[in-house]
Amino acid sequence: MSLVHFKEVVKKYDTTLSVNHLSLAIHEGEIFGLLGPNGAGKSTSIHMLSGLLSVDGGDITVEGYSVRKAPLEVKRRIGLVPQDLAIYDSLTAAENVTFFARLYGLGGKLLRERVAEALEFVGLQDKAKAKPGTFSGGMKRRLNIACAIMHRPKLIIMDEPTVGIDPQSRNHILESVRTLNKLGSTIIYTSHYMEEVEAISTRVGIMDRGRLIVSGTKEELRRQMGQDEQLILEVDRITEEAMAEIARHPRIKSAEETQPRTLQVVLEESATALQDLLFILHKHGIGLSKLTRIEPDLETLFLQLTGRSLRDRS
Ligand code: ADP
Repeated sequence: MSLVHFKEVVKKYDTTLSVNHLSLAIHEGEIFGLLGPNGAGKSTSIHMLSGLLSVDGGDITVEGYSVRKAPLEVKRRIGLVPQDLAIYDSLTAAENVTFFARLYGLGGKLLRERVAEALEFVGLQDKAKAKPGTFSGGMKRRLNIACAIMHRPKLIIMDEPTVGIDPQSRNHILESVRTLNKLGSTIIYTSHYMEEVEAISTRVGIMDRGRLIVSGTKEELRRQMGQDEQLILEVDRITEEAMAEIARHPRIKSAEETQPRTLQVVLEESATALQDLLFILHKHGIGLSKLTRIEPDLETLFLQLTGRSLRDRS
């Protein structure tokens, strides 16, 4: 069942459409990875869903409640972990979480329980009385997460939660995303780190220039990537004659000597193309010591769809 629905959503800044008729459904129980280069419109979309930005066209619903008509019902169901830290250095860790708990209408014993639970969840129970001014960047982010989950929301949105933090905190955050999901929360996870999104998500959407250009499970996306096969071959020598014969083969799309005695080859997917390649090597007396198949990734797909690279160039 779909928990979140973006229907033809538009956000305009001056004359440019930062979000351009975005339609997207997020199903209950999934970890949805929203991927795209910087400026693609991920944060703007997330902020409209969380009620921090108004919607200029279309609508977004959460469990059927519209962000336009029932913003409070939507907010109650959402925990947003924003990209920029939203914690107060003058308050202790526990006071920070308490502040947000009050905003969600919690009080009394329940409030104290949920604050303790949230701090424990992010591994900051021993720091409850410490002020975040003394925390590392990763600890601050974890406190930020505690502030967003203490009301046990159905939907948790994490906007680039691992930017600029140490590997240990990063792993802690990724692990907590998995745990929150197992405990029943649906997760939207935005990032421009494709490896991270590939590793953690059950389904992925890729945005570019305000639009969703593709979405699906990782397997579905792989299938879209075409049927070419990329191989790395380590050989004992390479001869010009062999390379020339390989280049002439109709089902071998390319072959390149990327390092001494290492060939990178792209084949049309067919058993015969690989057999023919091995036959050519054998015929020229070239010994093969290792053959590795390169798995296509989301970077390959983005490049195919847009002709541009997904990687952060900053
Ligand atoms: P992402 O999160 O994918 O990096 P954003 O949603 O932050 O992308 O930005 C999408 C586009 O909207 C960018 O081109 C950005 O420059 C523009 N944009 C975002 N916020 C504003 C703003 N307050 N005023 C004008 N343009 C904005």
